[in-house]
Amino acid sequence: MSNWHWSSLLFCFLVPPTIVKLEEPARYHDTCILFTVRGSPLPTLRWFHDNKELTPNKYVHPDVDYYKDDIEGCLTFKNPTHFNNGNYTLEATNYLGVVTSSVHGHFLNMPFPDSVTAETPKPQEDAFGVFIAVGLATFACVILVILFLLINKYGRRSKFNIKGPGAVMNVEENSTSPLHHVNHGVISPCALDNGSDSVVIGLSRIPIIENPQYFRHGHNCSKPTTYVHHIKQRDIVLKRELGEGAFGKVFLAECYNLSPTKKMLVAVKTLKDLTLAARKDFQHEAELLTNLQHEHIVKFYGVCVDGDPLIMVFEYMKHGDLNKFLRAHGPDAMMLVDGQPLQTNGELGLVQMLQIASQIAAGMIYLASQHFVHRDLATRNCLVGNGLLVKIGDFGMSRDIYSTDYYRVGGHTMLPIRWMPPESIMYRKFTTESDVWSFGVILWEIFTYGKQPWFQLANNEVIECITQGRREPQQRLIIKDIQQKLFALMKAAPVYLDILG
Ligand code: ADP
Repeated sequence: MSNWHWSSLLFCFLVPPTIVKLEEPARYHDTCILFTVRGSPLPTLRWFHDNKELTPNKYVHPDVDYYKDDIEGCLTFKNPTHFNNGNYTLEATNYLGVVTSSVHGHFLNMPFPDSVTAETPKPQEDAFGVFIAVGLATFACVILVILFLLINKYGRRSKFNIKGPGAVMNVEENSTSPLHHVNHGVISPCALDNGSDSVVIGLSRIPIIENPQYFRHGHNCSKPTTYVHHIKQRDIVLKRELGEGAFGKVFLAECYNLSPTKKMLVAVKTLKDLTLAARKDFQHEAELLTNLQHEHIVKFYGVCVDGDPLIMVFEYMKHGDLNKFLRAHGPDAMMLVDGQPLQTNGELGLVQMLQIASQIAAGMIYLASQHFVHRDLATRNCLVGNGLLVKIGDFGMSRDIYSTDYYRVGGHTMLPIRWMPPESIMYRKFTTESDVWSFGVILWEIFTYGKQPWFQLANNEVIECITQGRREPQQRLIIKDIQQKLFALMKAAPVYLDILG
């Protein structure tokens, strides 16, 4: 046997591992980190993500082909998100040695960059970069201020304050209202029929979403008149406090001259913050509510602007918000009188739960028909009246009383992440389909008698769980079909004695 044969035999049987190829993630059929490893005997492989060993799962796993003297493969990612960003290290081992090699993978930006910057200390070496960035930002600010002054001097404001195409603003940061009209995915206030019902929203900036009434009538850009009914202050007599909302306190009141039967009970919402922006929001909200009329949307009677505070007048829903109601009719609920248990309120049965759900679905079908995306559907935002009548009752966020239901992002934004689908959390994409997701969470709330979704998890863990779930909006049923299914279940369910008045 010649020397050549000996060395090649040795090469075949005794070769320490080498990683001959490890490429940055690239998109083929799936996203993939391609690699080739040599060694004899063939090495065993382990993967690490940011130094933590990777356990293969259906979202990240190696696909490997073994050949005579090398291993070729691909670390495969299915729909990677920002959670998959980081360093990927491949370790190859045989009894002659161990080698490692790393690549960096960047798949998606963090959905909430603001919220993490505070926690991520900047390395010292970045000081120069920071200095340059601050310099550039200052320069940009100066230019912006000059532009702003020029626009203010020479620019003309639209008569109805409608922003032009491409106008963006931090709606989340500034608006108290989560109810937004989705203008068929188009920012221009004039365009009407442009296909999809969705609007893709950037990571921290959201295209301005206009009052639906600007679009409802005709194709011109002028704002049709919405006559908000005005109620006189002397016609409202406050009786007692019902709760506290984002705008201000909510009271039970008697209202005169609203109906032919002289006086009626109403719920009045007060506006505590009288900034100009808050007044504008108030006006917007009132116009919007005036035009929303459906048996499963709370009735809006009008506004009272005679004095301070500003007031919105709604129909009074005797049993208050649905979350409280569910908790009060769960297995653990007790009526307490002077701190002593008195009686239970009566537990909700299956049929009643289905009745509650199908009424919310009916309200949602109406909202979808009006091209409204609610964005904050949850039991806390539904109201319960006599005879188990349920209505979607809140188009301003109940952030104050249910503050733990919201997650603060960056400075001011509060998001109801526990009710939000992956695409809303990651890209702030809010659509009729994202409302359907929230309805799924509402069903869970109803059937757990008002528990907080993911109650066992902290907000960041909730975000991780939901975004790893990856259920596509297209895979969701439409609300009409869901309502049909609820009706079918109701028909099939055994009938219990009605325990609620
Ligand atoms: P906001 O929208 O300003 O956050 P909410 O609508 O959440 O305020 O109101 C706060 C609380 O007031 C609710 O949780 C509910 O208990 C009570 N409430 C609000 N509207 C009504 C109503 N129409 N009828 C009876 N109670 C109401």
